Amino acid sequence: MRHTLPVVLLAVLAAGCGSSPVAPDSIETCVGFGDWQTSPYVLPYAVGTSYFVDQGNCSPPGNGHRGVTKFGYDFLMPIGTPVLAARGGIVTQVEESHFDGQVAATGFDNLIVIQHDDGTTTLYGHLTHDGAAVSSGERVLQGALIGYSGNTGNTNNKPHLHLSAASCDPSTRGTANCPTLPMNFANTEANPQGLQQGRSYSAFAY
Ligand SMILES: [Zn+2]
Repeated sequence: MRHTLPVVLLAVLAAGCGSSPVAPDSIETCVGFGDWQTSPYVLPYAVGTSYFVDQGNCSPPGNGHRGVTKFGYDFLMPIGTPVLAARGGIVTQVEESHFDGQVAATGFDNLIVIQHDDGTTTLYGHLTHDGAAVSSGERVLQGALIGYSGNTGNTNNKPHLHLSAASCDPSTRGTANCPTLPMNFANTEANPQGLQQGRSYSAFAY
């Protein structure tokens, strides 16, 4: 299904990966992680596969994961890689109309938002054209196939999956009102402070 992307969400994703309006000298801190071994999240890709974290939390000045979007991960992956639900919930937003290679700071992100039972959400960004395997309103279980990665939107023209959690639904409440949340993962190597940029993480069975 295709849905018109609210302007508020476009603004979110504009700051998602490639660039940020945050002042270059501002200091970011990314703390507050829970116990990774009992984290409600699993890596958003198939058990037995491994992907490289090209950008992590609190990215350096000039990069995208800063300010209200400071918690998030960019996993480098070829277009068409299966994307799995990091946590179960209800799909609240699907956008899949854009084409790979449609890369810009705003306006071209294909994405899926899933809302969890506690009201928080996870966002899966830069998906491929027609890359959603779920529809808005559908309930998905953790680990279910939800779509396929791509190269749409604010990717710096690097095919990757953006994953972030937020305190509410940015597709209805607006990004600025739904700051991103610390996110670590139960099915990989120890990650008490979340995943670290510049290395790969394997998805273990769970
Ligand atoms: Zn990102």
